[in-house]
Amino acid sequence: MLRIHFAGMLTAIITSALAVPAQAQQPAPPPFATTKVTDNVYIFRYGNHQSMFIVTPAGVIATDPISERRPAKPYIDAIQAVTKAPIKYVIYSHGHFDHIAGGKPFKDLGATFVAHANAKARIAALKPDDVVIPDQVVGGKRNITLGGTTLELNYVGKNHSDSTLVMRLPKEKIIKPGPRTMRARNSLTCRTFLPQ
Ligand SMILES: [Zn+2]
Repeated sequence: MLRIHFAGMLTAIITSALAVPAQAQQPAPPPFATTKVTDNVYIFRYGNHQSMFIVTPAGVIATDPISERRPAKPYIDAIQAVTKAPIKYVIYSHGHFDHIAGGKPFKDLGATFVAHANAKARIAALKPDDVVIPDQVVGGKRNITLGGTTLELNYVGKNHSDSTLVMRLPKEKIIKPGPRTMRARNSLTCRTFLPQ
């Protein structure tokens, strides 16, 4: 019995040893990457999180810091690799901290933070250490115009959260529907971008 059990273990060890070279041949994806969507719109991915930033001559509109338990620097570096224009706005897509934590470096650069009123209320109630409190709130709808680009912020009711802002760039024909709940086992993963 013992011998059989040992043989089984040995088989398992050999199998996993053989599997290692195959796994090693697949390079690990980089933890973060920037993708250009249009001339002035970019997606920044950090792990499983995505943010969008919009570059205009008058400055940058960035969404979610996505810097919970990690530095915001790669995101700021990605923006500054594209433009030296100042980061004027940070828009919270919704109030979940895995997306909106870690914004202080953006605040230190002078960005104005905008979120739905329910997101600000949640932050004010829970007082997380690493979440910047929004400077401005949106109730139903607001347009932000910067450097000739208009970004529409729309609240369409409860879905993934009670504070999701659907963002739309009418000129660029891009809609960012906010985070979307995936299958149950990935319920904490939010996808944030779809081309229109
Ligand atoms: Zn979320």
